[in-house]
Amino acid sequence: MDTDLQVAPRTGMDVDAFKKDIEQHLHYTLAKDKFSTTQWDNYRSVVLSVMDRLHDRWIDTQQRYYREESKRVYYISMEFLIGRLMDNMLINLGLQDVAAEAFKEVGMDYDKIREAEVDAGLGNGGLGRLAACYLDSMATLGIPAIGYGIRYDYGIFDQEIENGWQVEKPDLWLKYGYPWGIVRPKIQHPVKFYGETTSYVDDQGREHFDWVNTHDVQALAYDTPIPGYRNDVVNHLRLWKAASSHLFDLKSFNQGEYIEAVRTNLQEENISRVLYPNDKVFKGQELRLKQEYFLVSASLRDAFERFKTQFDDLRKIPQKMAIQCNDTHPNLAIPELMRLLMDEENLEWEQSWDIVTKTINYTNHTLMPEALEQWPLSLMSNLLPRHTQIIREIDRRFLNSIEVQGNGADHRKNRMRIISNEMDSRVRMANLGIVGSHKVNGVSEIHSDLMKKTIFKDFYEKYPEKFTNVTNGITPRRWLRQCNRKLADLISEHIGDEWVTHLDQLEKVEPLAEDDTFREQFAEIKRKNKKRLADYIERELDVKVNPESIFDVQIKRIHEYKRQLMAAFHAITLYNRIKANPDGDFTPRTIIFAGKAAPGYTMAKLHIKLINCVADKINNDPDIGDKLKCVFLPNYSVSLAEIMIPATNLSEQISTAGMEASGTGNMKFALNGALTIGTLDGANIEIREQVGDENIFIFGLTVEDIDELRSSGYNPNEYVDGNEELQKIIAQLSNGFFSPEDDTEIFMPIINALLNQGDYFMVLADYDAYVKKQEEVEKVFNNPDEWNRRAIINVANMGHFSSDRSIRDYADEIWKVDVK
Ligand SMILES: *Cc1c(COP(=O)(O)O)cnc(C)c1O
Repeated sequence: MDTDLQVAPRTGMDVDAFKKDIEQHLHYTLAKDKFSTTQWDNYRSVVLSVMDRLHDRWIDTQQRYYREESKRVYYISMEFLIGRLMDNMLINLGLQDVAAEAFKEVGMDYDKIREAEVDAGLGNGGLGRLAACYLDSMATLGIPAIGYGIRYDYGIFDQEIENGWQVEKPDLWLKYGYPWGIVRPKIQHPVKFYGETTSYVDDQGREHFDWVNTHDVQALAYDTPIPGYRNDVVNHLRLWKAASSHLFDLKSFNQGEYIEAVRTNLQEENISRVLYPNDKVFKGQELRLKQEYFLVSASLRDAFERFKTQFDDLRKIPQKMAIQCNDTHPNLAIPELMRLLMDEENLEWEQSWDIVTKTINYTNHTLMPEALEQWPLSLMSNLLPRHTQIIREIDRRFLNSIEVQGNGADHRKNRMRIISNEMDSRVRMANLGIVGSHKVNGVSEIHSDLMKKTIFKDFYEKYPEKFTNVTNGITPRRWLRQCNRKLADLISEHIGDEWVTHLDQLEKVEPLAEDDTFREQFAEIKRKNKKRLADYIERELDVKVNPESIFDVQIKRIHEYKRQLMAAFHAITLYNRIKANPDGDFTPRTIIFAGKAAPGYTMAKLHIKLINCVADKINNDPDIGDKLKCVFLPNYSVSLAEIMIPATNLSEQISTAGMEASGTGNMKFALNGALTIGTLDGANIEIREQVGDENIFIFGLTVEDIDELRSSGYNPNEYVDGNEELQKIIAQLSNGFFSPEDDTEIFMPIINALLNQGDYFMVLADYDAYVKKQEEVEKVFNNPDEWNRRAIINVANMGHFSSDRSIRDYADEIWKVDVK
């Protein structure tokens, strides 16, 4: 360690040193004794002891980046779905077993300490969790990276289930403070809003622009260290909190309007108040645009200042920084960097544009039209007048660069414009992202392919070199080593532990699929994990489930395209079959759901209600008994995923083909020895390629089938007419069979969407293939040797889905930074 201190305190990596520090922090930092100490105090003393050990490495890492004049990667994201950090920090520092022993010696309980931590839920789902996995991988690969995000006072809402309905409660994650985050009071950047632009012409005849009379808000930095896995690298996540730029307005204070002055402060701070709880749907609220610009402006200013302390030639920017925009949300980085270079640094348009288009990159996360960000021009020009001017100019130059000859040229041009030319013009953030960035990537092979063939076809023809794919990944540290220690240890016993950073090594596990002892050990671990989940379900819901049954799990945001409805229909099908033949031979199954619906997404909330009504019926029917259970676990989160995924036999990945860009839940399950039932969508396709068609249950319409069916006229009623079981389900939903007594019509909107509004997500078209594939699942499950063999082969072939591989792809293809 590069430290000037004679004896570095509080940095020993052995049990005694760690134990002593926990005790010292309890006493000297927290002023607690054995009578007054709570689990929260224990947890805080552990965090403080871990932080002591991070700080040397953190400082050293950052000094080295500076000394080596490293190219920096800036990963800008509106969401980071971090979850709990204690285990992750201990594992990456190589301290987990040391800590466990130290806790024992001071009489602390590991699980209780872990559970005292709150989940940092600063994200909605896959996109935010991806950003968190990427932070772990960037640090593990030694990439000089900073994650930039917003320190929301309220993360994703807490979900409670009342009478079967989702109810949202505020997430008070900062209530007792967040000990992994340290405030940097001296790192504050002003962010401007509103005002207007002025211009003047200099002696050389060049026009300059100023943005004046703005309303300014301060962005205040909070840093959380991000250690790599046992490599002494520590990067960080820098989250911005909005603060008033003036303590109070002196003038109004003097006039006695003290309250008015303070009230303004509160409004400014509202920018970082709350995470928007929508997943994959665009709502054009001004406060959201403020958040996006707040993030971009503070982060670019921060990066720009770091660059300027080290280099004086702005033309070097593309060699010294790469910016990655996680979806279109941070794409204002394009006009913002133009503004910094032109208005503040006096560069010309062409020079600035050259820098911008070599530095900024954009990741597309969905092709669904309702998710695409299109800001009303009027709203944007009021809030960000200078950026709107710049975007207009980008658009003008871009349109000039498109040839206008030939049939359909005007249509093509209109599709490609950044600012749509309708009555109410809108700024299309995806188009801006493509025109203004170096690379555009999709998140799985099929998604990147469809991007080029469908929504961005015109752009692909113009800029084929910009388009690339980086298939998503998950960090094996959290999603195997941390959440499933027993399986991780079993694997390491056989192949060593290099897989933790080189997940391809898991292929050495494949021959063990034929080893009876290994299969039995593997099965025993799954049994224990299932028992743990069964206990959790009983505690939470007071429902007893059969640990021997198939644990059939669908956990993800509730969205029509993800088709929780189809899995609910399968649950009803099994229920009806058992009722029709109570003494029949059924493979016991526990169907488990979890997931949040956006608070304004009425249909998704009705799907939750339906699942809970179906679950009530099934779980309370004595004819059904142990053969079938159905539960909806409230408040899906990273921590809940860590309990559920290791306990799963069957992973449900059943989106309408073409609609799930990648999915990452699918990867977590397979890595933990679940078999997938899924459609040919997103990364399911690559999972199939890796594990082989025999080791995954693929069913249903493909993207091509769906195209054909839609163009030849999809009639959902035909599918009902041809299927008695489906008819029965439709009848049960219509006649109130599952409904509460006082509201028998409650599920009619679901029936309408399916039968009268065209069943856009093709639940009815895929139902039969799904149910038949589930029968095949049962056959295999009834042959445990065969099931476990396939599960082990899945684990062995997950190397491709490490986020380390994804980050290497970004580093090689997009960022051009070295990886160790
Ligand atoms: C992995 C993860 C997701 C993404 O799941 P998908 O099935 O890919 O949609 C969402 N939420 C949490 C908490 C996760 O851990």
